[in-house]
Amino acid sequence: MNPEPTAGSPGARILVVEDDPRICDVLEYALKADGYSVRTTQRGREAVTLCQTNSPELIVLDVGLPDIDGFEVCRQIRAFSDVPVIFLTSRGDEINRVVGLELGGDDYVAKPFSTRELLARIKAIRRRRVSPSQQPSGSAGIFHYGPIEIDADKFRVRCGGEDVPLTRQEFKLLDLLVHHPGRVFTREQVLDQAWGDGGFVTDRTIDVHIKTLRKKFGDFEFIETVRGIGYRATEL
Ligand code: CA
Repeated sequence: MNPEPTAGSPGARILVVEDDPRICDVLEYALKADGYSVRTTQRGREAVTLCQTNSPELIVLDVGLPDIDGFEVCRQIRAFSDVPVIFLTSRGDEINRVVGLELGGDDYVAKPFSTRELLARIKAIRRRRVSPSQQPSGSAGIFHYGPIEIDADKFRVRCGGEDVPLTRQEFKLLDLLVHHPGRVFTREQVLDQAWGDGGFVTDRTIDVHIKTLRKKFGDFEFIETVRGIGYRATEL
C-alpha cells in the first residue's frame, strides 16, 4: 500500500481496543492489509489481560469503553509495560488529550479519523521506538517540510533556499516537530525527546526556544501553540 518503509518486522502485533464494532472492523482490516497481526477487544479489562498474555507491540485504545475507560486501561498497563499507546479520542476533546498524554499515551487520534492517518501515526511511533538514535532523519538524507530542508548529516537547515543558522537545541526542536506534523507535543515530551538529560530546563526555556525558532523562519509560520498543551507543526 504505502511505499514508506515500515520500521519493524512485518507482522508486528497490534491490539485494537474499541467497542464500536464498525470502527473495530475497519481498523482490523486496514491494519492487516498493512501487514500487522491484529487482536481486537471491546472491553477495557480484557485489553489489560491481553496486554499481559499477548505482549502487543502497540495498542490502539479507545477512550470510551463500556467497562473501564481507556485512561484506566492505560494506567493499568503502564504498571507493567511501556508498550506504545495511541488513544482514540472524541473530536475536540482537549482535556481528554492532555489526560491521555500525561497518563503515558504516546499519541492520540481524534474521531472521526482516517485509517490512513492512524497508520501514519503507528508507523511514526514504531520508527521512534525501533531506532531512536537514527531517528528522525539521520539516514534519510534531506528531509523536506514545506520550504524547509533539513540535512541532518550536515546539521544544516535551509528555508526557501536560504541557510537558517540554528543552535543545536533549536535544530533538535525543529527536527522533532516537523517530522510529526499535526502531532501535539507537550512541553514535557519536548524535553524528553529533544533535550535528553543535559542540563536544567524549564517549560519557560522551551517557550523561549520556540519563540526564537519562529523568528528565524520569519514569514513561514508553521509552529502552532495548542493552548494548555504544547506545540505542533502545521500539517501541510
Ligand atoms: Ca467507544
